[in-house]
Amino acid sequence: MYQARTFLSRSFATLLNHPLRVCIVGSGPAGFYTAERTLKAHQEAQVDIIDRLPTPFGLVRSGVAPDHPETKIVINQFSRVAQHERCSFFGNVSLGSSISLSELRELYHVVVLAYGAESDRVLGIPGEDLFGIHSAREFVWWYNAHPDCKNLNPDLKSTDTAVILGQGNVALDVARILLRPIEELATTDIASHALNALEESSIRKVYLVGRRGPVQAACTAKELRELLGIKNLFVNIKEADLVKTPADEEEMKNSRIQRRVYELLSKAAASASSQSSSGQRELHFVFFHKPDCFLESEKSSGHVSGVHFERTVLKAVGPGKQVAVGTGEFEDIDCGMVLKSIGYKSVPVNGLPFDHCRGVVPNVKGRVLSDDSGVPTQIENGLYVCGWLKRGPTGIIATNLYCAEETVASILEDLENGTLSSEDSLPKPGREGLLHLLDSKNVTPIQYSGWEKIDSLEKRLGGLSNKLREKLTSWEELLKAATT
Ligand code: NAP
Repeated sequence: MYQARTFLSRSFATLLNHPLRVCIVGSGPAGFYTAERTLKAHQEAQVDIIDRLPTPFGLVRSGVAPDHPETKIVINQFSRVAQHERCSFFGNVSLGSSISLSELRELYHVVVLAYGAESDRVLGIPGEDLFGIHSAREFVWWYNAHPDCKNLNPDLKSTDTAVILGQGNVALDVARILLRPIEELATTDIASHALNALEESSIRKVYLVGRRGPVQAACTAKELRELLGIKNLFVNIKEADLVKTPADEEEMKNSRIQRRVYELLSKAAASASSQSSSGQRELHFVFFHKPDCFLESEKSSGHVSGVHFERTVLKAVGPGKQVAVGTGEFEDIDCGMVLKSIGYKSVPVNGLPFDHCRGVVPNVKGRVLSDDSGVPTQIENGLYVCGWLKRGPTGIIATNLYCAEETVASILEDLENGTLSSEDSLPKPGREGLLHLLDSKNVTPIQYSGWEKIDSLEKRLGGLSNKLREKLTSWEELLKAATT
């Protein structure tokens, strides 16, 4: 692991005699870890973090499940970074609409893009736009009070069955929120509109469907154990699906996570076979099924009524890698709601090189490449990337720490060896220029003090209903709280 050194580039410092202006786009874990490392490593750096939301912390606020408060403790560390004397936060500033990438690059010596993945992979199969089908990201944003999904209104009342496509940790999160006893959610920071809807939910049966087998389930053991441990839940796993092939054994030999997940599923299958559901909520694990198309309801036109699946078998395509291939046998699962949890996707902004196939910015150790074929021919001077935009939508919060260390190491190296051109070593307007430009465009940035107002109001409102916090759910409420 790279250890960031306290660093002041000699060549750069002699040229400069003024601060290194750094702008980080995105205030999630990747953004904050990059800010923290930069401030520590470069004593002359002035770091501004911008975010399109009025609130900081990205995925920690909008992605981490409300029943995982311990995961959100990292906010304390990020708050200290935001309050550092050489750091500023400006929310309500959207790259692409409030300010362009080229404008930012004019204002700062270094721009680090860490705005994550705010869109979804699509299946590209018929019926994907029927009512009742949502991406898991939208559902997560809805229960986490992201202002863009306040009005999602997933219909939890007209059906007793939900199908979740994918078996990663996000799929497990949304399954848990649908199945967990409501009293266990009531004191969390879940959005009040979601708590009310879940209280009235008719969903009793959730199918978690994977296109591959139990050995390849993309979740981790801790999250699986938590889901399987939900009180009064009937779990169904077909023992026949647990039969391992030599290729599965090989995969498991090399992965402790896969071994543990498989063991937990086997244990759950064994104990489930001796029981039958007696009116409890039900969780069905379905393996070796890939979605072929969505079925439209005959009664309610335009609304999903099920998923048509093709059964699969696994085919080895390389050492330790097996893919799902269709068998030509099909099966339907009836349901009134589908959550597609097949991965997030990053979105490019104007002027940003982007690998549309992998959904990432082409880069070498965080240095953005201007050639999107991925051939490291030309580095975009002063432009860096970190987090999901750099490596794709994988990993836990702490993964972003290592990712940020690598990107900051590249910045330091480029300063030291003079890769940043002499033009880039001239004074840059940085923060003052940013505020001036935003003002000229009638954009009102929300500073950290504005977030503190939102934070204390949310905590106060939460206290009134015995919740950790009552999140504000609309842009209007957030902006009003931050500016009054
Ligand atoms: P993920 O772990 O990549 O899982 C994606 C799932 O979608 C996999 O089961 C994958 O199956 C399936 N899938 C992809 N394309 C598909 C297709 N065309 N048809 C059917 N299934 C398809 O992604 P994620 O669940 O969105 O999680 C993102 C990252 O955040 C992960 O690293 C996760 O661990 C992390 N996270 C962590 C936590 C936590 O620590 N508590 C919570 C949430 C998220 P294949 O394997 O066959 O591709």
